[in-house]
Amino acid sequence: MLVYKMAKVRVDKETCIACGVCWALAPDIFELDPATGKTRIREPYGKSDNEKESVGEIPENMVETAKNAASSCPTGSIVVE
Ligand code: SF4
Repeated sequence: MLVYKMAKVRVDKETCIACGVCWALAPDIFELDPATGKTRIREPYGKSDNEKESVGEIPENMVETAKNAASSCPTGSIVVE
């Protein structure tokens, strides 16, 4: 069985200002949640989502892109573990 290494990504929706930077830098991972007007983790990577945060798991080869978005987020709302 193939086992892929995954990394956890978390978006703090309470501090996200919906500037769109992460949607532009990592469109395969982040998108606008129309219900809250904040960022959420896209399918198929999203694992849980509520008004406060969106949490997902991404494959190792997307970590660099996610970290780039995290370091560009003006409010520090994205954490990649
Ligand atoms: Fe929200 Fe940060 Fe993404 Fe901007 S870059 S939309 S503040 S999570």
